[in-house]
Amino acid sequence: MRITCPLCGDRDRREFYYYGDAVYADRPAEGAAPEAWDAYLHLRDNPAGETRDLWYHEMGCSAWIEVTRNTVTHAVLATRLLAERGQTGEGGPSGEGEPKPRRKGKPE
Ligand SMILES: [Zn+2]
Repeated sequence: MRITCPLCGDRDRREFYYYGDAVYADRPAEGAAPEAWDAYLHLRDNPAGETRDLWYHEMGCSAWIEVTRNTVTHAVLATRLLAERGQTGEGGPSGEGEPKPRRKGKPE
């Protein structure tokens, strides 16, 4: 699978660290209800089709990238910097809230 980093261009997916569903960038506000935190931490859809995931360009520019892809065809439909997502008024991290790469196991 190839992923187009908005900064580096077309790269092999092994340069990237897979973090998970892009919902991780939509952290509940401080003081949010426990149900909101439960959903944020534990509940995920598992669609056959289009997904939005967070990838970290670990062996490149160290940017967080939101990748829209199809889990059935493995086609990468779109990529964008996570920082740009935050600038469009869609929420998301503003810097310190960006996820930290987890180091357990190898990414798929
Ligand atoms: Zn990059």
